[in-house]
Amino acid sequence: MIPEIDVRGCIAKKMSEGSLDFDFEADETLLDIPFVKFAGPVRAALAYTVLDDFSVEVRGEIAFTLLGACSRCLKEAKQEIVCRAEGLFERGEGDGETYGYRNGKVDLNEFLRDSVMFALPPRLLCEACEQWENE
Ligand SMILES: [Zn+2]
Repeated sequence: MIPEIDVRGCIAKKMSEGSLDFDFEADETLLDIPFVKFAGPVRAALAYTVLDDFSVEVRGEIAFTLLGACSRCLKEAKQEIVCRAEGLFERGEGDGETYGYRNGKVDLNEFLRDSVMFALPPRLLCEACEQWENE
């Protein structure tokens, strides 16, 4: 489940910071490496800050594991990916660089989708192939 950030609630409680730790199912269609899938849910550890103009800064880390056939030798391969995730949410519409939010609540779906897409490697390599590439 992807939680929302209740900005209105934070302002009412005079809380300007918070953190969120959760798992969510990644969208398999984001992954276009042949014979590779997500080994489980994506873990997200995020911190957020409500700024004076009510925009919300979100930053943290996402982590997930890819499992499937090595893109080079087709042996079974597994890779753990950890990537920074950062976004700024503005009231109303985002401007392309930022995201927008409405009704006092930040919906993290699009941000998480973009973060996973950004974190995905172009291919998956098994240990032997990775070593071979680095030599
Ligand atoms: Zn390989």
